[in-house]
Amino acid sequence: MIDLRSDTITMPTVAMRKAMAEAEVGDDVYGADPTINRLQELSAEMMGKEVAMFVPSGTMGNQIAVLTHTRPGTEVILEADSHIYYYEAAAASVFAGIQPRPLAGRRGSMPAELVEWAIRQDDIHLPPTSLICLENTHNRAGGTVVPLKDMQAVYEVANRYKIPVHLDGARIFNASVASGVPVKDYTACTTSIQFCLSKGLGAPVGSIIAGPADFIEEARRWRKRLGGGMRQAGIIAAAGIVALETMVDRLAEDHENARLLADGLASLKGIDFNPDEVDTNIVIVKPTTMSIEQLGDELEKRGILTVVIEPDRVRFTTNKEVNRDDIEKTITAVKEILA
Ligand SMILES: *Cc1c(COP(=O)(O)O)cnc(C)c1O
Repeated sequence: MIDLRSDTITMPTVAMRKAMAEAEVGDDVYGADPTINRLQELSAEMMGKEVAMFVPSGTMGNQIAVLTHTRPGTEVILEADSHIYYYEAAAASVFAGIQPRPLAGRRGSMPAELVEWAIRQDDIHLPPTSLICLENTHNRAGGTVVPLKDMQAVYEVANRYKIPVHLDGARIFNASVASGVPVKDYTACTTSIQFCLSKGLGAPVGSIIAGPADFIEEARRWRKRLGGGMRQAGIIAAAGIVALETMVDRLAEDHENARLLADGLASLKGIDFNPDEVDTNIVIVKPTTMSIEQLGDELEKRGILTVVIEPDRVRFTTNKEVNRDDIEKTITAVKEILA
């Protein structure tokens, strides 16, 4: 099987399994797991933030950030295709009691003028704006890199209105590797960030949220409330350390493979997409001569797994388990199916 469903399907490396087997552990609810503490210190340093906290998933990390920054009855500005709005089962409404204010972005980026326009005036009829969320790379837009200057412009607006900014940086390392912009430059225009160890970096479990010390202190209480306080979880954090220390630079290979795939598919009739819009490890295409289910099923018959993105697109995500050869086979298979 060539599994292009996601960059979460990866297996831990030998080095990760060894680190996990040998990890020194303790009860992290008491702050006594040395491996988790090491992962958190390393993460805070890499993000240029005061403190970091290990959480079980990216979704929990984002939701803890929303819960910590906001209060019920306030409004959160976010991009209409963002993960927090689109893919977290309305968790921010259910748990935080916030009202989302989705804005249509361009390739995942919300113009700063639009964000400023959406910030509420002080009026008893209106919910106060409590948070602005950004996403980089932007998943549903196709793994697109949101330009640093766009993030800086939003941050400038946010500062003027004293509104915090949370970055869903599940794939912030993909953004950095693709653009050459240091991660710290991106995080410098955010109050808090969440990133995933379990996406392209290959760790089996876990995400990090990072931000100011007082923010993380309150976030720890939210993590406990949600049941995300784990015990000897240094076992999994150990793989996260290996991910951060050894798996970041190789994301460039995933990007090269996605580029190869995009260029290979670009010339085919029966597929609608612009290969110039592929920035990182995600290629999203729209079949025009068959249904998405048909294309997905035919690929699966040939041993290639993809994901259907509702309403009408098919997504290929390169990851460390697929190589150049797999990509060539995928291009050939799509050619055959569309012929
Ligand atoms: C995958 C993803 C998440 C959520 O991460 P999980 O660990 O799957 O909960 C959040 N944001 C973005 C942009 C993602 O791609």
